[in-house]
Amino acid sequence: MELLKERIRKDGVIKEGNVLKVDNFLNHQMDIGLFNEIGREFKRRFADERIDKILTIEASGIGIAAIAAQYFGVPVVFAKKAQSINLDGTMLSAPVESFTHKRRYEVIVASRFLRPGENILIIDDFLANGCAAMGLCQIVEAAHARVAGIGIVIEKGFQCGGKLLREKGMRVESLAIVDGMDAATQTVQFRD
Ligand code: 5GP
Repeated sequence: MELLKERIRKDGVIKEGNVLKVDNFLNHQMDIGLFNEIGREFKRRFADERIDKILTIEASGIGIAAIAAQYFGVPVVFAKKAQSINLDGTMLSAPVESFTHKRRYEVIVASRFLRPGENILIIDDFLANGCAAMGLCQIVEAAHARVAGIGIVIEKGFQCGGKLLREKGMRVESLAIVDGMDAATQTVQFRD
């Protein structure tokens, strides 16, 4: 998605440790005009799939998923990262190793929001090693629902997540794939 790549070139900041900071428009301050185009593009790419629900993960995925959901006309469920007294009923959970925070946590979804046989589109802001997406897939499987696809805004193609998910037969659609980035020169290389 050219508009997104241009924005990453203009406003993305490359940090040491293979971290791309896009908090100016994606995951802190949010450019809703851009989110609208991202939502439209996810709908275009998954137009041939029946989608019953979008599943994402708090916090950064929620804004993107909520805007995308308007194009699909479906509800959004977001996985929570912490137990809360407001979580009741049967819970589905999976462990996730955080790439940015370097810690392990559980992602949790109340089972009543994912029903057997539903077609679920997973959406997230980044795909790095694939732990977050794998955790969400695990939850969908535990609910006896089906992962119809995984929509990612920025995939870091030099990390293993995309390869692992595609090898498992998952349909992964990434709107920008970064194949390399250099903190010294602040340059990003995109896959064609
Ligand atoms: P994974 O589980 O695929 O290793 O990492 C995905 C999660 O880590 C995303 O939900 C995202 O929040 C975060 N993440 C991974 N890499 C980056 C990065 O380069 N920049 C930012 N801002 N977040 C990242």
